[in-house]
Amino acid sequence: MIIIKGIGASPGISIGKAYVLEDEEIVVTRTEIPRDRLRAEVARFKAAQKATHRDLDAAEAKVLKLLGKNHAKLIDAHRLILRDTLITQDVPKRILSEGVNAEFALSEALEAVNQQFEKLEDEFFRERRHDLFDVGKRLLAHLLKHARRSLADIDHSCILISRNLLPSDTINLQESRILGFATDLGGKTSHTAILAQSLEIPAVVGLSDVSRRVKTGDTVILDGEQGLVIISPTPEAVAKYEKAQAAEHEAERALEALKGLPAVTQDEKRFQLQVNLDTPEELKAVLALQADGIGLFRTEYLFMNRPTSPTEEEQAKAYSSVAKAMAPRPVVIRTADIGGDRLTQMGIEGPKNETNPFMGLRGVRLFLRHLDLFKTQLRAILRATAKGDVKIMIPMVSAVAEVQAVRRLLNQAIAELQAEGVALPKMVELGIMVEIPSAAVLLDAFLPHCDFVSIGTNDLIQYTLAVDRVNEHVSHLYDPFHPAVLRLIHNVVTVAHRGGKWVSVCGEMTSDPHAVPLLVGLGCDCLSISPRMFLRVKETVRGLRHAAMARLVAKAVTCSDSEEIRRLMREQGL
Ligand code: PEP
Ligand code: MG
Repeated sequence: MIIIKGIGASPGISIGKAYVLEDEEIVVTRTEIPRDRLRAEVARFKAAQKATHRDLDAAEAKVLKLLGKNHAKLIDAHRLILRDTLITQDVPKRILSEGVNAEFALSEALEAVNQQFEKLEDEFFRERRHDLFDVGKRLLAHLLKHARRSLADIDHSCILISRNLLPSDTINLQESRILGFATDLGGKTSHTAILAQSLEIPAVVGLSDVSRRVKTGDTVILDGEQGLVIISPTPEAVAKYEKAQAAEHEAERALEALKGLPAVTQDEKRFQLQVNLDTPEELKAVLALQADGIGLFRTEYLFMNRPTSPTEEEQAKAYSSVAKAMAPRPVVIRTADIGGDRLTQMGIEGPKNETNPFMGLRGVRLFLRHLDLFKTQLRAILRATAKGDVKIMIPMVSAVAEVQAVRRLLNQAIAELQAEGVALPKMVELGIMVEIPSAAVLLDAFLPHCDFVSIGTNDLIQYTLAVDRVNEHVSHLYDPFHPAVLRLIHNVVTVAHRGGKWVSVCGEMTSDPHAVPLLVGLGCDCLSISPRMFLRVKETVRGLRHAAMARLVAKAVTCSDSEEIRRLMREQGL
């Protein structure tokens, strides 16, 4: 039995056989494709060709900027290869005639040409085959990205082990029978971890080498609470964890009694407890919680794993169904926060290959470069106001000018819809995420331009402490109890209340029952929580005295380190 310690990313225990996902080296296997799906396979190959062309365009722009025109011509050689009949004709022909997958047809075609190249006497020409393989690798990478989507097709119960899992992979797990997953990379508030919680899949991340230590078929136990992976457990360990699993289910059943009860503290202070919604598919489970609303609808997942952006119609339908189901309770729809670790396959110019993606073209920055996409989403959200209490929220705001630009675009969208005869409410609230320190510090300047604020602690902590939220090497420094973080939140709540605006918190800090006493004491009006932790947090809130927590916070903001704050809390039995 081997026990590896990582970071608990999503609570719960799972026990099962491992399925190890190879993703670092490109392994091409031969898969027979049924006759009726061969055309689709060719289309998949063509999509990869297109994506590779886009890669080359992006690479060319970069080389042009850094090295100038002459060097940029190098890219032309790759472009020529991509247009060669070897790629454009031979590969589709092989797919159709041999009935095989695109990856296999491509690698066979490349190998055939490689053998021809090897026969060449001229070393210069012989070495050109490396260009050919570079292009081949790019194509394969695109094909395999799509192939990895077949994660959803894993048809047996298993625990997924991999080096990394992107949010776009994770979202596919909701249709699969994955019992849990463990990865070498990642942090507690990575979007992959947050999704795992939403989908109620136990997960452990930041295990450094679990993908090399586990083999497909090994029995493993995953302890998402403690952040442990146990490989080849003894029968005693299995029995112990089975017991813990049963106790966990029992505790969850006991929490059901809290459904429908208000989130009120012992001294009668009422809080709004809302939920974070990652995909419309989770709506049914969310409704069962009887929350006070949806405090954050992360719409970016509607844009993932697809070659084109969702149409206005499609988005309006998705937002309307959520608004209708929750009415009359509010639904805060956040405009897509694409970028960082959440990339799309839509080929949007910008966020690919950035050195610091979390500080790059993300959220509102990206959408202000793509006003067409932005306006489409705003129109779709506005159309959903007919079905319920819908509010709009902007992610990644760092400057007042961004909010003003969004306000202008929103006004345009409103005018357009009204001209088209669409009835809209007199006022649609526009809020901002406070998740970049500049917005927290300068909040008074933002307030005249927005109707409410929501503190995104996941990013606020990452940017305040300079700790990449997906980097396991610095995860020990990611600290919601850091006094600098508390002072920033304190400032936001004080300034917003002074300006007559309500404050919500929607980062993962709201889902940590240990941190919730601080948020209660800080006087946030609303906590928006991951559905998995909703009832546990409600239990915590109902057990607290607000006045005592406010006194605790008054002391906490004068502390110089988080250990001091934790000690203060321990002294009060928290
Ligand atoms: C946050 O940053 O706290 C937040 C809620 O947004 P996301 O996790 O989607 O970045
Ligand atoms: Mg955020």
